[in-house]
Amino acid sequence: MLNLVLFGPPGAGKGTQSQKLIDKYQLVHISTGDLFRAHIKDQTTLGQQVSQIIADGNLVPDSVTIAMLEEEIQKNPDAKGFIFDGFPRTVAQAEALDHFLESNNSSITGVIALDVNEDELKARIAKRQEISGRADDAADKLTKRIEEYFEKTILVLPYYEAQSKLSKVNGIGDIDSIFGELTQIIDQY
Ligand code: ADP
Repeated sequence: MLNLVLFGPPGAGKGTQSQKLIDKYQLVHISTGDLFRAHIKDQTTLGQQVSQIIADGNLVPDSVTIAMLEEEIQKNPDAKGFIFDGFPRTVAQAEALDHFLESNNSSITGVIALDVNEDELKARIAKRQEISGRADDAADKLTKRIEEYFEKTILVLPYYEAQSKLSKVNGIGDIDSIFGELTQIIDQY
């Protein structure tokens, strides 16, 4: 199995690159952000529980996020592998994912972090909001999300570095050349 974590701050291009990677490697894409947005749109119990948290730019509690993710993995028993996008966002989530995969005789193959500076992230998301209309893309909420990233999510990097699973790619440049760099790393796995 090829299990990849595509890592990076909000606006780093994880979603864009994931789409291209699933086509090339026939993996199942699991984006926790997309899953939460679908629950909110469908007004499920989970959606109602998380919609304010997400609109405010805060992280959803680990227990809720981990349960949703495990359920999603279980829905795909025949998958050749997964791309995790937007997960794990905390060390507790990374540990839970390792334990879950291990109990299914699997593991994370590699983690690729897309590196993009804060000014570029803000510019990209301001542009995206014109199209997405996402409440959490508004400037004040975005600041909160970037804060959450630098306070909690960035700690996931040393976790995977300690397992020698981390690679870094410059996330600034054209989409296809970034994709080329990602595939070079993945083809070595
Ligand atoms: P982006 O990649 O633009 O940061 P996402 O679409 O991945 O945003 O996520 C949107 C929001 O959903 C996050 O700001 C957070 O509130 C919530 N969320 C997504 N994934 C997680 C997660 N793994 N843990 C906690 N909250 C999450």
